[in-house]
Amino acid sequence: MALLQISEPGHSPQPHQRKHAVGIDLGTTNSLVATVRSGMAEVLTDEQGRELLPSVAHYTADGVSCVGYEAAEHNVSDPLNTLASVKRLMGRGLADVKTFGDQLPYEFAADDGGMPKIKTVAGLVSPIQVSAEILRKLAGRAEISFGSMLDGAVITVPAYFDDAQRQATKDAATLAGIKVLRLLNEPTAAAIAYGLDQVEAETDTAPQERIIAIYDLGGGTFDISILRLSKGVFEVLATGGDSALGGDDFDHAIANWLRVQVGMDEDLNPIEQRILLETAKSAKEELTDSEQVELEILDWKGTLTRTLMHSLIDGLIDKTLRACKRSLRDAGLENLDISNVILVGGSTRTPRVGEKVAELFGKQPLCSLDPDKVVAMGAALQAEVLVGNKSGDDMLLLDVIPLSLGIETMGGLIEKIIHRNTTIPVAKAQEFTTFKDGQTAMAIHILQGERELASDCRSLSRFELRGIPPMVAGAAKIRVAYQVDADGLLSVSARELTSNVEARIEVRPSYGIGEEEITSMLQDSFSHARDDMQARALREQQVEADRMIEDLLAAIYKDGDALLSDDERRCLKVAIQELREVRESTIEHRVLARQIESVAKASEEFAARRMDASIKSALAGHSLDEIEKG
Ligand code: ADP
Ligand code: MG
Repeated sequence: MALLQISEPGHSPQPHQRKHAVGIDLGTTNSLVATVRSGMAEVLTDEQGRELLPSVAHYTADGVSCVGYEAAEHNVSDPLNTLASVKRLMGRGLADVKTFGDQLPYEFAADDGGMPKIKTVAGLVSPIQVSAEILRKLAGRAEISFGSMLDGAVITVPAYFDDAQRQATKDAATLAGIKVLRLLNEPTAAAIAYGLDQVEAETDTAPQERIIAIYDLGGGTFDISILRLSKGVFEVLATGGDSALGGDDFDHAIANWLRVQVGMDEDLNPIEQRILLETAKSAKEELTDSEQVELEILDWKGTLTRTLMHSLIDGLIDKTLRACKRSLRDAGLENLDISNVILVGGSTRTPRVGEKVAELFGKQPLCSLDPDKVVAMGAALQAEVLVGNKSGDDMLLLDVIPLSLGIETMGGLIEKIIHRNTTIPVAKAQEFTTFKDGQTAMAIHILQGERELASDCRSLSRFELRGIPPMVAGAAKIRVAYQVDADGLLSVSARELTSNVEARIEVRPSYGIGEEEITSMLQDSFSHARDDMQARALREQQVEADRMIEDLLAAIYKDGDALLSDDERRCLKVAIQELREVRESTIEHRVLARQIESVAKASEEFAARRMDASIKSALAGHSLDEIEKG
């Protein structure tokens, strides 16, 4: 609706339609959404101006009741239905969950071969559904801010998320109706946010090649990544870390100390556990700025000093440092080779973490950007390129396979086809043969992991190549090709070369949710889609109405005296007032659209007069001749 938009001659108001893209940091503890405005990455806030969205959803018998801060408030009163930290469960099997599930207060449904589901009053809820709720909320925040629909998002994942975990993240986005432009490793996003390629270009004296370590300690995950930056190209040399280590573990260590102090026994109910954890967490965060903190639980009172906290968490920090050393070894580097260290994640606010990291690498880490926000900001910058708003020529990203991809061979061993830390996208093939005379089928079992025995690696998928012509053992030539796309997702094909029979599979990992399940979840989302679309359409009309009211008031203020009679001005003001009222009261987007249309009609004449006046003033003092030549 450009009715009252009058632009200077030669300047069109909208030179080209910009696409609306965002970067989403889907965190274990907190999530954020950011976009690029005037070339700068900017985190989008909610109506209260808050940047973080706690990654929490609360369920009642009717389903999800709220997401974010509001949901987190149910932590203590209703812990079993307040689902937090589900990122830890994404793409995991029940066996994985058993190893760290005791840190989560939830009850899990029995393993049905798929992903573990959490028992809630609303029934069984999968981690993918919870993640979808969080993504939906963030997308909504962005759509309100844009006043229009989202064209796509870059969503970040921990660097060493395996295929199942990446697929689960993508499924959550699909469920939330978000187009995924790319899954991006979190540390890579952080390096982009720091614009280290720009730094390189600006300083002549900068070394030809720069090695950057990104140390990301969040609430539930630790990531260390070693990137090489050379001539504006980022390459991930190595990734490592621990998918079950973060600030939550600091909280647990402190809570455990608290429990002993307070004299509670080990067998806590979920509510007691939450109270201890919340107290521990806020004590930890306070100790970031002060030397000691006074605590009170029930009738116990005490003091926690920084030194005491260090004794509780140093072991955990040291664990992260060992992972750093391992990754350096993987990359064939020594700590002196590192040019920059970047701190990412809320837990790096604890000064002790920065100190120990500085000690390990022998240099002060970069931390000028808010460690909570860097990942979302980098993702936004990448989204801007991928959606086509900005040329990506100057930024080329290479990522690596976090864990080797292989195939099960005779005797339950794994033969690696793509080794870990290979840059993606990548395609690799290997030839196998039959081991029995007349064998006409071959089972392909796709695995991911570093261990030698297939049973120790993660099983991603199985399929069978059939129709191999009967031959003597060892005569068939079966070429198995693994292909990993830019998101780190795998497809596998197998072909017998003499007969050309072929089978292929897009790997939908066994731990991911099944095809039918996705379908049924999508159907669920379709049944809500009507409501969602209504809400979206209404939002669009509201934005339109606001814009119209603002433009019209500005125009009346500027030109009303000169171009309108008193009556005309009064009429327009009444029309504006009516529009305001309808905008506030209606939930029906068509009603609002009609009102907008009628105000547009009422102001048509005024717009035409302003247009004339502006042309006249542009022409004033020039001959027609001049204008035509110009
Ligand atoms: P994630 O990436 O896992 O979602 P974040 O990067 O948001 O997590 O980090 C969350 C963690 O940061 C939590 O454990 C939280 O307690 C911790 N944290 C936040 N603020 C502070 C602070 N001021 N001092 C210490 N830790 C903090
Ligand atoms: Mg994070």
